[in-house]
Amino acid sequence: MAPNVPIPNPITNPNPNPGSGVTQSHWGLDPVLLEVLACPAEHHAPLTPGAPDDPGAPSLTCTECGRVYPIRDGIPVLLLDEATLGGTAVDSAVLR
Ligand SMILES: [Zn+2]
Repeated sequence: MAPNVPIPNPITNPNPNPGSGVTQSHWGLDPVLLEVLACPAEHHAPLTPGAPDDPGAPSLTCTECGRVYPIRDGIPVLLLDEATLGGTAVDSAVLR
């Protein structure tokens, strides 16, 4: 445990002065955009960058249902039909 080490969180700590820093966005995504994106499922939970089994993957993972949405050409594809299921088990929408 290291309680004195701050943990940077680009999602809950948006850069108030864009252009002044060298903030690395996720695969060309605007951090502000990331903040407003939500799962298209009815819970509309926030999304977190990366996939459960690959934090560096160009995807967004729902914090609620665990669906993984691909990012194509810098554009997150937030469609239930396009979502895949990552490491988190979700018992529906797998079979079709
Ligand atoms: Zn979801």
